[in-house]
Amino acid sequence: MVDLSAITALQERLTERLGARNVSSDARLLERASVDGARMSPVISELLPLGVADLVAFPTDAEAIADTVRAAVELGVPVTPRGKGTGNYGQAIPSTGGLVLDLSRARAVLDVGDGVITAEAGATMLALEQAAAASGQQLWMYPSTMNSSIGGFLAGGSGGTGTIEHGANHMGFVVALDVVHADGGGLRHVEGEEAQLYVHNYGTAGIIVRATVRLEPLVDWRALYASFDDFPGPLSVIREIGLLTPRPRLVSADTVEVSRALPDDPAIPDGRSSLRSIIAPEALEQAVALIESAGGRVEDVRTGAQASARLSTLSYNHPIEWLQKTRPGYYYHLEVGGDILVEDIDLVHATIGDGLLHVEAGHTVPIGMLAAEYRGPDEVRAAIDRLTAIGVGVHNPHQWNVDFELQRTVALARTTDPRGLLNPGKLNPDYDGPTKGSIR
Ligand SMILES: Cc1cc2nc3c(=O)[nH]c(=O)nc-3n(C[C@H](O)[C@H](O)[C@H](O)COP(=O)(O)OP(=O)(O)OC[C@H]3O[C@@H](n4cnc5c(N)ncnc54)[C@H](O)[C@@H]3O)c2cc1C
Repeated sequence: MVDLSAITALQERLTERLGARNVSSDARLLERASVDGARMSPVISELLPLGVADLVAFPTDAEAIADTVRAAVELGVPVTPRGKGTGNYGQAIPSTGGLVLDLSRARAVLDVGDGVITAEAGATMLALEQAAAASGQQLWMYPSTMNSSIGGFLAGGSGGTGTIEHGANHMGFVVALDVVHADGGGLRHVEGEEAQLYVHNYGTAGIIVRATVRLEPLVDWRALYASFDDFPGPLSVIREIGLLTPRPRLVSADTVEVSRALPDDPAIPDGRSSLRSIIAPEALEQAVALIESAGGRVEDVRTGAQASARLSTLSYNHPIEWLQKTRPGYYYHLEVGGDILVEDIDLVHATIGDGLLHVEAGHTVPIGMLAAEYRGPDEVRAAIDRLTAIGVGVHNPHQWNVDFELQRTVALARTTDPRGLLNPGKLNPDYDGPTKGSIR
């Protein structure tokens, strides 16, 4: 529980610094600032609400962000950073109340260079991709949720478009960051290895204020849609398509049931198993040959940035979100990986009990989301054990604790956040790493 007099004092100070329209204690705004996409997890949904903000601030540039954090720290008020609030598992929820630092109004794209782009933390991944395209380049990696922010993607998300070529972690994507700590100091510029220390840890060791991330030359991608009688068809070719040269930006495939749940599109025919790929023109002919030799048929090949962006929005967690809409409250999912997903899907599906896989061609092995009927958190844990026993790599996403390089973050936060004010509740120093084999 945060001291109310500290909140009042902080509101006064921030109103003076940011202007009245960029600070609020309005109940509706506080509620909106205190939810993310956690309803996707039935495990977490049962625990909601996890916390509600006392105050929300919307600084509009880097210096204003640093001043806001400094003021909150001086008054001992917890600070939970927020990009677009699209994370799926409660990581942006202010567990102990306090200030939500909404960064969505600090969204300038500052510079596009040769191989790099610099933007403020609240800039959307879509805005970055568009700015990069105007200079003949594209993002090295971006999530399937393209309206998420660069700060939120670096601090929270993991995989997405670009994962096949570059892997699911952001090593290599992040070039430099400007961060602010909860130690009373100002902005700090970090590069290379030092910048990696702020990735995937939910702002618990420092808040990303500006980011410089890597670009690569723009490719004139094609959006390829194919379909098969049933799921074994796409599973038999997804690895080979993912290995074509140049490597595709994305290859996704779904069971007949998950395909049916996707938004209506003549290129995803009802009753068939869909395969979709963002693929370079040079690899298209080989991909079509592979699809046809496996009994599939090409439904469409679309051109243009919008067509391939659309395929991104049908990848990773998104098909599961569409599936959940068909039976609200029924499905949970696990992040899974391994060759067994394509080599023995019947065993995988049976092991989780009428499972439904959404699969992606991964960097080294296929990865995906495995959905099944939700029967409570104990069954989720038991399903993880059963899947692990048959050789499926499983990451349990239904929790909000940092589980990437935890000890490294704990060590850093001891100096950067000595009073534990940054996104409290997400960094559990007693937690000794993922309990199950992680696919990351
Ligand atoms: C349907 C659906 C599908 C998704 N698919 C994917 C996917 O394929 N791949 C993927 O990686 N993610 C996916 N996500 C999760 C999420 O969209 C991404 O992680 C996204 O990039 C988060 O961005 P955001 O701006 O919404 O961050 P938020 O949700 O606002 O924040 C994410 C985390 O980062 C912290 N944070 C936010 N901004 C900063 C900052 N500037 N500095 C420090 N910490 C900060 C927050 O406190 C929170 O802990 C999906 C989400 C949905 C709803």
